[in-house]
Amino acid sequence: MASSVTVLRTVREVREWRGDAGDVGLVPTMGALHGGHRRLVERAAADGVAIASIFVNPTQFAPNEDYRAYPRSEEADLALLADAGCAAAFIPGVEEMYRPGEDMRVVPGDIASRLEGAARPGHFAGVCTVVAKLFGMVRPARTYFSHKDFQQLRVVQTMVRDLALWIRVVPFEIVREPDGLAMSSRNAYLTPDERRRAVALSRGLFAARDEWARGTRDAATLRATVRGIASDAGTPEYVSIADPVTLRELEGRAERAVVSLACRVGRARLIDNVLLGMSLDELARL
Ligand code: AMP
Repeated sequence: MASSVTVLRTVREVREWRGDAGDVGLVPTMGALHGGHRRLVERAAADGVAIASIFVNPTQFAPNEDYRAYPRSEEADLALLADAGCAAAFIPGVEEMYRPGEDMRVVPGDIASRLEGAARPGHFAGVCTVVAKLFGMVRPARTYFSHKDFQQLRVVQTMVRDLALWIRVVPFEIVREPDGLAMSSRNAYLTPDERRRAVALSRGLFAARDEWARGTRDAATLRATVRGIASDAGTPEYVSIADPVTLRELEGRAERAVVSLACRVGRARLIDNVLLGMSLDELARL
């Protein structure tokens, strides 16, 4: 029988719950929780006291994106969090997170300028601002981010380093459906036919991983492999072979790489990646 989760809706409630003592791990989410979130929270709970935030952050969505349509399922989310051993859920309203008269935003740098940052102008400014606020509100010792959103993980790591925030960023794996599709709240948008096609995205990435294991290091070859297979799901917005530290696109021989893509499948814009030649432990030490 799972214990219950303490639901906190205001900054004042978070501060009271948090107190001065303790050593908490924060898992920021936008809700519509799935098995990937569950594993992330289980990891945080295994390390200490876990708190998850659920906030669909309007400032990281462009006007043409799915802010309004984004799935919301608070009751089911709370049940999942309880089951995963999460101690508290911070679920602020938009007015609690963004107070009238606020004047400050985080300005992300070069690492946020390409890939998702190029495809979604303003996205990482919104992400960094809300994550910085969450860090200030919760004051966690650790925070957990999956490399499902690889660039987001790197942007947050860079913000923590450059703003000297005293928080350990713990990178986590990507949890997948049995057929390989990366779990995502946006998979809920897929029709059964689109769901079947979407598996081509992970198949393309796994094919590149297999080529890498056989010794291929040429970025263009890896890029072509992914594009050739992933195109069965739709036309990718980008297929990238980038350096996992800088996220700059690689040409020629790669010593390590993050192979990533974004692709619209029906109403859903899906992203996925594989990390080659670098472990999550190495990523954690950056
Ligand atoms: P989101 O709710 O999409 O903002 O994601 C919240 C956190 O869950 C982020 O650190 C994501 O990278 C992570 N996450 C999303 N999908 C997965 C997945 N399939 N496996 C593991 N973690 C995930």
